[in-house]
Amino acid sequence: MEALNQTNSIHVIGGGLAGCEAAWRLARAGRRCTLHEMRPGKPTEAHRTGRLAELVCSNSLKSDSENTASWLLKQELRRLGSLSMAAAERSRVPGGHALTVDREVFAQEITRAIEGEPLIEVRRQELKAIPAEGIVIVASGPLTSGALAGDIARRTGSQRLYFYDSISPIVDASTIDMDKVFAASRYGKSIDGGDDYLNCPMTKEGYEAFVDAVLAADSADAHIPADEAIHEGKVAFFEACLPIEEIARRGRETLRFGPMKPVGLTDPRTGRWPYAAVQLRQESQRADSYNLVGFQNHMKFPEQRRVFRLIPGLEQAEFLRYGQMHRNTYINGPELLDTALRLKSEPRVFFAGQISGVEGYVESMATGLMAGMHAAGAAMGKALKPLPRETAMGSLCHYIANADAQRYQPANIAFDILPALDDEARARLKRDKKARHAEVCRRAAVALDAYLGER
Ligand SMILES: Cc1cc2nc3c(=O)[nH]c(=O)nc-3n(C[C@H](O)[C@H](O)[C@H](O)COP(=O)(O)OP(=O)(O)OC[C@H]3O[C@@H](n4cnc5c(N)ncnc54)[C@H](O)[C@@H]3O)c2cc1C
Repeated sequence: MEALNQTNSIHVIGGGLAGCEAAWRLARAGRRCTLHEMRPGKPTEAHRTGRLAELVCSNSLKSDSENTASWLLKQELRRLGSLSMAAAERSRVPGGHALTVDREVFAQEITRAIEGEPLIEVRRQELKAIPAEGIVIVASGPLTSGALAGDIARRTGSQRLYFYDSISPIVDASTIDMDKVFAASRYGKSIDGGDDYLNCPMTKEGYEAFVDAVLAADSADAHIPADEAIHEGKVAFFEACLPIEEIARRGRETLRFGPMKPVGLTDPRTGRWPYAAVQLRQESQRADSYNLVGFQNHMKFPEQRRVFRLIPGLEQAEFLRYGQMHRNTYINGPELLDTALRLKSEPRVFFAGQISGVEGYVESMATGLMAGMHAAGAAMGKALKPLPRETAMGSLCHYIANADAQRYQPANIAFDILPALDDEARARLKRDKKARHAEVCRRAAVALDAYLGER
């Protein structure tokens, strides 16, 4: 490995969602950088390819319905020239009101753009420690390699850098019994008016039998000693991504109010909502695979095959991927980072993506873009200017740097992390939540305009 000793060099560690966005932003600002990606030489537990910006689980970049928090974040990324948003447009597949993509096309688009950018040098190597000099953006993600995680823990004095999340299974479309499922989006909501999900309807008896089977199924063995905690029930799960067996343990009806909720899904054969439903979302542009939405789990693979084949329409399903538990590595943002995503103790080191303490694909892209923007500013000797708090991106960084450090949980973008409206607007829009959200989005757009105008 070449010495990393130029003081003005910029290193981005990790060619994932955040790292690619950061490197792209640096290049757009005219700055050279080296992007270090350890795959394919050293794989992670979840990535399957050597491509940059690989989506490891769902193919959804969440809601693109106007005036939702997730839409606002994507709109801001689009306004700031995000590489991922451009790739998402080119790889889009039907997904109701969500922006869903063909993961292969998406990763190919980004890999091609990054590898073809003369200001970015891609080095396929694992970095075992943060380079001693230069500006560094750590974007090594939730599955940061052990050596690097050790170095980060030492530098930041952190005791614990990881907890647990889970991923959902994917089935081969040709093995779904189309006579038993029906196509529909919840409440008919879809960007193009299509019926974007396949729904597997369940009767009360079918649901009860399914819950029994989930509760009785064997869990997968631990891959690493630390995973033993999963079996001992001592795991820190991320609440928004609970495995279905954990949801089922919380009450027999809980699944029916969570990932198996039937509301708004009218079965054309009965004209009614079923008792419960499993939704299947298209995975690829060819529609040759579907994922079981919200069916993250930690059951043994043969158990998953047996239990999920109880679902109407999936009796003969072939699984292309099974659900799994995985490690999620992140630092305690409020303790360690400022709103420009720099280490307070070592301001030449920036953090972005999941490891900075956000949760989600788009949130990772957003923090990557911001870290890249700030790192470019730092390289040019500029005073760093975080995005306004009124914007979704500004609020995300504000959350990372200012949330309660004692009970820190990575954040998805949500309206409750943006500042409340002023009293006048709140009073005026008291009875209209949609109008309040629209007002928050309007205010964010105005703030971003002003920010971009002043730069
Ligand atoms: C299994 C799993 C499933 C997930 N499912 C979802 C989901 O469905 N929806 C969602 O919104 N979010 C999901 N997430 C969370 C998160 O959004 C994704 O992990 C996202 O990819 C994070 O982006 P990132 O850029 O921070 O990390 P990544 O995209 O993982 O990129 C980090 C990169 O760094 C590389 N790397 C690691 N260590 C080193 C090193 N020492 N040297 C060089 N390179 C290194 C890795 O190979 C990787 O390519 C999931 C996370 C995991 C782990």
